[in-house]
Amino acid sequence: MRSHTAYLAFNTSKRCEIIHITPRIEAELAKSGIKEGLCLVNAMHITASVFINDDEPGLHQDFLDWTEKLAPYDLKGYRHNRTGEDNGDSHLKRTIMGREVVVAVTGGRLDFGPWERIFYGEFDGRRSKRVLVKIIGE
Ligand code: ZN
Repeated sequence: MRSHTAYLAFNTSKRCEIIHITPRIEAELAKSGIKEGLCLVNAMHITASVFINDDEPGLHQDFLDWTEKLAPYDLKGYRHNRTGEDNGDSHLKRTIMGREVVVAVTGGRLDFGPWERIFYGEFDGRRSKRVLVKIIGE
């Protein structure tokens, strides 16, 4: 079995942002040379997500609006913010949107459903963050 590991860096200009990362994952898969296996992609921070959905800008704004409605940044009363942090909402948004995805690798390609693409969801940006890519197989 072979494996390939990569760390992708992000530093968003906005606090909350959704970024399409499928091309970067496909580039890592090409580097790996793996034809059959599994590709794990996970956010390495507890205020950021990796998820699969449609590459459609209206939907991305819907996700941002929806998570903001569920966990507003300016809501008073997050117990987490008593620690001196201001990102109680970010941890909740990350949990709603998920930590990681696993995609099958078939014939050297990510074996997606018709509209599936991979996204990085940032919920406490404007600082350096990382995503882990681990591809295993043959
Ligand atoms: Zn925190």
